[in-house]
Amino acid sequence: MQNGMKQDSATHARPHESMNGVSSATTGLGGVATAALTTTTAVAPPNTAEVSNEPSVRERCTLLGIPWHDKVPPSDAAAAELLAPEIAVRLGAVPVSREGNRLVVAMLDPLDTAAVDEIGAVTGRVIRRIGLDAPAFRELMRDRYGTTAARMAESLASDGGLAAVSDSEHNLDAIEADDVHRMAEQPTLINLVNLILLEAVQGRASDVHIEPFESELRVKYRIDGVLVSQPQPPKHLQAALIGRVKIMAGMNIAERYIPQDGHITLRFEGRKVDIRVSTVPTLYGESVVMRILDKSSLPLDLVSLGMSDSHRAIVDRMIEKPHGLVLVTGPTGSGKTTTLYASLSKLYDPRKKIITIEDPVEYELNGINQIPVNAKRGLSFATGLRAILRQDPDIVFVGEIRDAETVDIAIRSALTGHLIFSTLHTNDAISSVGRLVDMGAEPYLVASVLEGLLAQRLGRRICALCREERRITEEVEARLTPDERVRFGGRQSVGRGCEKCNGSGFRGRLGFYEVVRVSTALRGAIAQNRPVHELKSLLDSDFVTMREDGMRKALAGVTTIEEVLRATQDVDDFADAFTKQGAHAHDGKAGESRGKKGT
Ligand SMILES: [Zn+2]
Repeated sequence: MQNGMKQDSATHARPHESMNGVSSATTGLGGVATAALTTTTAVAPPNTAEVSNEPSVRERCTLLGIPWHDKVPPSDAAAAELLAPEIAVRLGAVPVSREGNRLVVAMLDPLDTAAVDEIGAVTGRVIRRIGLDAPAFRELMRDRYGTTAARMAESLASDGGLAAVSDSEHNLDAIEADDVHRMAEQPTLINLVNLILLEAVQGRASDVHIEPFESELRVKYRIDGVLVSQPQPPKHLQAALIGRVKIMAGMNIAERYIPQDGHITLRFEGRKVDIRVSTVPTLYGESVVMRILDKSSLPLDLVSLGMSDSHRAIVDRMIEKPHGLVLVTGPTGSGKTTTLYASLSKLYDPRKKIITIEDPVEYELNGINQIPVNAKRGLSFATGLRAILRQDPDIVFVGEIRDAETVDIAIRSALTGHLIFSTLHTNDAISSVGRLVDMGAEPYLVASVLEGLLAQRLGRRICALCREERRITEEVEARLTPDERVRFGGRQSVGRGCEKCNGSGFRGRLGFYEVVRVSTALRGAIAQNRPVHELKSLLDSDFVTMREDGMRKALAGVTTIEEVLRATQDVDDFADAFTKQGAHAHDGKAGESRGKKGT
């Protein structure tokens, strides 16, 4: 964060670019000024500050005879050790080599003379600066300081300003809010929190978890859907660190015993990153989860989610109906919302009114009216949906159907000419029928409005740079069906693990889908409230389960069998239990409990 923000402020301060700074801080006139600026300079790309500003720092360095590199220069570890990581991060500078009493320092902005002076003072050497492009600088930073957040936490542990707290580490109550406030405003601590967030964003994490335990404070990132432990900050920094996050998120720092919600907006390398923060009091302090909503990284295209052509064709037809109900099912974190966003942005047409009610609004969609649920003020899915219908919409997206009232309004509005999208917590697509009926919907009404059902799970995508073929382990082989065993022939693609994927062998995610088209026969059976196994027997002959969709992707070398099994395990468990129970009619209840377990 620090270097990204540093660079921003530095570039805005340059006279040449000051118009940009004005336009982002004010409205109207500033925008006109920028437009004029862009037309005169013509070559400036309209996009990020980083792209448009870089040439000017670079040009000015060249004029001043300061060398500029766009690749990581050769560097030596001993040189980097002369500068503490938190200073390196704060100043956007990494020492790369020593030449006698001179220290060569790679910098994001070599023209930041205050920074150069500070490095000179700290290291006691004459500084020779070189400029480095931001991506190369980041790489260098990682190479030299490893997980900088970890190193910084280590050095903070011995920081006098914060050490006083350690006496009271087992008695968080004893720390006054004022103390927390004071500690949370320490520059080093601010840097630590910024770094934790920076590394999370760089590492493509979707969430950051800070979990207090009796004698430790754990930090975990969720990357590609899996929690990865990070180096632990010292336990005695807990109150200050969590306090800092709460200040950033605009929460009440004195209140530590009730759950709170907050929001942080960060600028990172010229783009906006929204972070939703939630705290919950636990035995040993407040547990914090930060969800990173990186608007620029949202894949709004079903193709990039790995949806097969045949599935996409069915979904396209489903969402183009003039009215009806389309449901996407799966547990929390299965990518339901992303799929629906992809559909909504595909449907966007200025001649149609599209309204959503969401909890919360995760991504802003251009041209679509989005309403956040606000339980405190009495705006629930049901009340919101009722209000939306008076706004004359064509298409409505209800974040989730979870009670009788919402299901009732959703079905009635689908009957009266609206296209309604929503999500449900059920394990597989066809179980949603039973779930709707369980929530009080009349089977014949469900039958008349339901246009399609889609269930999905997310798995990890094999890193394309280190993909290789390997023998399938016995353990995995044992979990395959005889047919699957034949198709794989004992081998599959896996990621060996490389620098690009942090050794995990995976990079990015993809969906495993099952799509149910509601045929006339199926509609009839739904209207008669037939048991789920009968509904299943009426699915189209080309219907594939999520597991099968996943296995096809594993066969194609896009993901691994283990990922497919992991992601679709709950569905298989349910199917097993269902078979053992003897396939009784109406599995809605079982679907409900399983669905909840999945969340
Ligand atoms: Zn790799």
